[in-house]
Amino acid sequence: MAEKDVDVVVVGAGFAGMYLLHELRKQGFSSRVLEAGDDVGGTWYWNRYPGARCDIATTDYQYTWDPELLDEWQWSEKHAAQPEILRYAQYVAKKHDLYSGIDFEVRVDKAAWDDSAKKWTIHTSTGETITCRHYVMATGCLSVPKDPDIPGTDRFKGNVYVTGRWPHEGVDFTGQRVAVIGTGSSAIQSMPHIASQAKQLVVFQRTPNFSMPAFNGPQPPDRVARLKADRIAYQNEARMSPTGVPMEMATVSALAVSREEAFAMLEKSWRKGELLQIGATFTDVGINRAANEVVCDFMRSKIHEVVKDPETAETLSPRGHAYGTKRPCMDTNYFEVFNMPHVRLVDIRKKPITSITETGIDFDGESIEFDSIVYATGFDAMTGAIVNVDITGKNGLTLKKKWENGPLTYLGLTTVGFPNFYMITGPGSPSVLSNMMVSIEQHVEWIRDALVDMRDKGFETIEPTAAAEEDWRVHCTDCADITLFQDTNSWYMGANVPGKPRVLLPYIGGVGRYRRICTEAMQRGFLGFELQGNGKQQLNPGPVRLMQPDVEMMLDVMATLELPPIEAMSPAEARGFMDASATMRAPGPDVGEIVDGTFPGADGDLEYRVYRPASAGPHPVVVYYHGGGWVLGSHTSDDPLCRDLCKRADVMIISVNYRHAPEARFPAAVDDAWAALQWVAKNASVLGGKPDQIAVAGWSAGGNLAAVVAQMARDNGGPKLKGQLLLTPVTDGSRQSASYIENGEGYVLTKNVMEWFWNHYASAEDRKSVKASPLLAPSLANLPPAMIVTGQFDPLRDEGNAYAHALADAGVPVKRLQARGHIHTSITMVDMLPSGQSVRAHMASGLREFFAGE
Ligand SMILES: Cc1cc2nc3c(=O)[nH]c(=O)nc-3n(C[C@H](O)[C@H](O)[C@H](O)COP(=O)(O)OP(=O)(O)OC[C@H]3O[C@@H](n4cnc5c(N)ncnc54)[C@H](O)[C@@H]3O)c2cc1C
Repeated sequence: MAEKDVDVVVVGAGFAGMYLLHELRKQGFSSRVLEAGDDVGGTWYWNRYPGARCDIATTDYQYTWDPELLDEWQWSEKHAAQPEILRYAQYVAKKHDLYSGIDFEVRVDKAAWDDSAKKWTIHTSTGETITCRHYVMATGCLSVPKDPDIPGTDRFKGNVYVTGRWPHEGVDFTGQRVAVIGTGSSAIQSMPHIASQAKQLVVFQRTPNFSMPAFNGPQPPDRVARLKADRIAYQNEARMSPTGVPMEMATVSALAVSREEAFAMLEKSWRKGELLQIGATFTDVGINRAANEVVCDFMRSKIHEVVKDPETAETLSPRGHAYGTKRPCMDTNYFEVFNMPHVRLVDIRKKPITSITETGIDFDGESIEFDSIVYATGFDAMTGAIVNVDITGKNGLTLKKKWENGPLTYLGLTTVGFPNFYMITGPGSPSVLSNMMVSIEQHVEWIRDALVDMRDKGFETIEPTAAAEEDWRVHCTDCADITLFQDTNSWYMGANVPGKPRVLLPYIGGVGRYRRICTEAMQRGFLGFELQGNGKQQLNPGPVRLMQPDVEMMLDVMATLELPPIEAMSPAEARGFMDASATMRAPGPDVGEIVDGTFPGADGDLEYRVYRPASAGPHPVVVYYHGGGWVLGSHTSDDPLCRDLCKRADVMIISVNYRHAPEARFPAAVDDAWAALQWVAKNASVLGGKPDQIAVAGWSAGGNLAAVVAQMARDNGGPKLKGQLLLTPVTDGSRQSASYIENGEGYVLTKNVMEWFWNHYASAEDRKSVKASPLLAPSLANLPPAMIVTGQFDPLRDEGNAYAHALADAGVPVKRLQARGHIHTSITMVDMLPSGQSVRAHMASGLREFFAGE
């Protein structure tokens, strides 16, 4: 007799539900696993269409939690076919006695949270009611086939097949007239098999897809060798990788090599026959449209090589979406199908289907009769199976209602208002953008550990906080915003289901990064969660500190380079190192004109560089002071940033040099900065600027100089400045704020580097001068309007913010922008880190506002 009240109810007995059952038993939790199908395997139970295959190599698409399986189970191919994967699932279920813990042919229809009992009540299709403390949806991301939105589907009297619900006994199309509707992964895999049997095959395509040959065969020897040599290391690498498969990280932009070189590199990736390799050939395929287009061109050239009829080849060539923004496919002889005389391709964007009829399909004035129609029309991905169950949380809130504008989750695992409710590979987690085996195992283990921890500490409920959920939403959006996904109507975006909110469903920040975040959340006392039970409460709202994904990626790459610390170098060595690094950066946008010259500094001539916009002048003028801790840099060292601000704000930027420490210590840089401002004020018209519209700007130490000269201009009767734009400025060298402790290590500008800068620049006594520490000025009243930008992960964050607050307190109009997830240096990395774009756009509009109305 099955238990009616258990610790955990799990819905679904695919790979996720199976592993969870195993772990729950191991930890002594009572459980019920409820599965709609009549066997284990989930995806690989339902998707029995001919050619169904996993696109991830079998070295990587297998469980890691039972190491014995590695020797016990020998995969016959690199990419396993559905029957073999299903046999594997059955083998594991038998080996670990999982069948005894699963109720088959039971569908969960309804689940409701009972807040007084602190339990879930689950209603099933068999009329059973089960109560449980914890409720887990292991219902799969691609388990609900999408209904085809074509008129007349119920009229057809012939055979109808849906790839995601294929008959278990198989289908023989020999001698038949067959229509296949859809050209996604399932269609691409099944088409060669259907074409080889059918008398006539008509393929109705709405959107062509990128597909590459799987080059299937034995398991890849290099991967097998690495796995066998050190299983733990290989699997850890997979877990910490961007996609859940160990792969070499790309190091070069697709735009940094010639087209021939790019194609040669892509050819090498292509030959590997691995799903994720093409997209990983270059650093910027996912974020830069031009770089992506190189890959698209390569992929299209491959289609044209195979398909003999150029018009058909063109119809099969994707043109409207970036590579990777729709699920790329792997095939065996897919494009070859279209060289067969009995196969016809219909582009339904040009020739729409008007109706399915009793005998066939009407489209664009034609009627074709068929014996069978195969719908390969995809899935209601990621949320479909979850909201298919009528789930009610606290205060009568249903999940469907909560998610009506898009799924809201914390970590893709939990959602506010639904205590003790968990999703495996849910929306907001890497899920379908990863090797799902890695993601499934990670989620199962996180849920297991959470349950064990709660039991050990006597807590009954866990629920994310609203703040944490909101932080996660913002972070997911930040991640999505820098990619090309948003521009494509894909099932990743929910765009294939009419009425479904358009939002990138999976988390795009990467498997390894995501794992680190989830682990940190648990290790730091369930960060972002509230736990309750037995009269106790533990609330740990955060903050959840999330870095911009591209910034974190850059830090990861820098970590692998093992760069020497700046503070261990002499100033000359550090300058050489900075110059060498500058040669590798992107140049920044074109501006109207760039002119170099010299101006009289406080102790001799110094260089400047003028950036003029392309529009007709005269322009407002911004005197810009470069960063570099008063030790490094020059009037050209922030070139990309100056170009970017010039172009975005339509202002003239004059980047001026100043003498550097330790050769010229404090106050030499201030004296030069002040001389530069006076000189520009006098010569603005000659330079093509508006003499009565001058502002100052600077980054880091340059921000310090800009703030100081703004005070000097106030105190010395001019020039009258329109504004001061301070990007991550140094404002107080007399003490170290909390952000020095929080962000003192690991974010490029470290506490030690900052000390090295200060020591070269100014003595402890000098640092107390207002010309070194503008925050210490007795009054900040009557200074020009300011815009102050600080980075969340910057040691200088707090002193930048303190200056903004002090200015505001003194009655100065201040705009303050804390750049979420940014470090001290990342905002200036024009064309390299897309997440800095919006910050610089704000800076540019700040500059425009300084000069507005003039
Ligand atoms: C055709 C296809 C190809 C794929 N190829 C790859 C690939 O190459 N690489 C990769 O990583 N992933 C791939 N996937 C994703 C695949 O879904 C996962 O790899 C993995 O199998 C998911 O396991 P799961 O246990 O999370 O979900 P599933 O395997 O989907 O299992 C979920 C189970 O929950 C059951 N269920 C759902 N709702 C209910 C309910 N209300 N009541 C009772 N039972 C319910 C379903 O019947 C199903 O058996 C593919 C998916 C498909 C459809």
